Amino acid sequence: MFKGTLIRSGNNAKTVKGDGEFETAIMYLAPFTMAGSNVCPMAEQAGCVAGCLNTAGRGAFNNVQKARIAKTKRYLASRTAFMAELVTDLEAFVRYCKRKGAKPAVRLNGTSDIQWEVAHFASRGDERGSVFELFPEIQFYDYTKIYKRAYRDLPANYALVLSYSAANPAYAAAIQKTAAETGANVAMVFRSKALRDAFVGKVADEFWSMPVIDGDETDMRFLDPKGVVVGLYAKGKAKTDESGFVVG
Ligand code: SF4
Repeated sequence: MFKGTLIRSGNNAKTVKGDGEFETAIMYLAPFTMAGSNVCPMAEQAGCVAGCLNTAGRGAFNNVQKARIAKTKRYLASRTAFMAELVTDLEAFVRYCKRKGAKPAVRLNGTSDIQWEVAHFASRGDERGSVFELFPEIQFYDYTKIYKRAYRDLPANYALVLSYSAANPAYAAAIQKTAAETGANVAMVFRSKALRDAFVGKVADEFWSMPVIDGDETDMRFLDPKGVVVGLYAKGKAKTDESGFVVG
């Protein structure tokens, strides 16, 4: 297990089920406006706040929530200082993975939706750029509700999966259009494992004729085939969500 001040690995059920080749470190911030300013700009439009995975797993504990709020406040107070802290963590994680013989994978938006590819510069030694440019040895990946990001020329080591919600029909339609136009994969949260499993391997009209894969088997979204629905089942508060964020 790697534990930095911002990212950590090995304590997330989704990542330990990975293929062993990669070790994933995830950064969990306080989502939406929990820390004062909004770090999830599409959350209201997508209607995902009530069912946010922030409450799943370790997130159910108060001390964990406090730590996430403190980290997010650091991000909001000084982006420069925060990016420097992130670089220190990423360098330590790269060294840790090297010792273990694992390939490093990092998810920066465990419970946030920050556009790291835009206006988030950092320095590593003499180099300056995005963390994707500074750490070509890391495979980054994220889920996002900001569908315009899928139209960008993203770095080769950053895989983005669109995150579906039917809480707002206009948002759901925009996700469908973006997937069709960009070929991006779409993650959907199903009410139960049984419901998700019933669709795995099938191509259904309600999922825009895209095949559904089991997204809980591994969290390594960058290894998924293209043009698929990544089927996840509801955890935490999402199990009882009635907003439409959860399918079924
Ligand atoms: S589901 Fe994602 S975008 Fe929505 S509030 Fe949670 S972290 Fe933010």
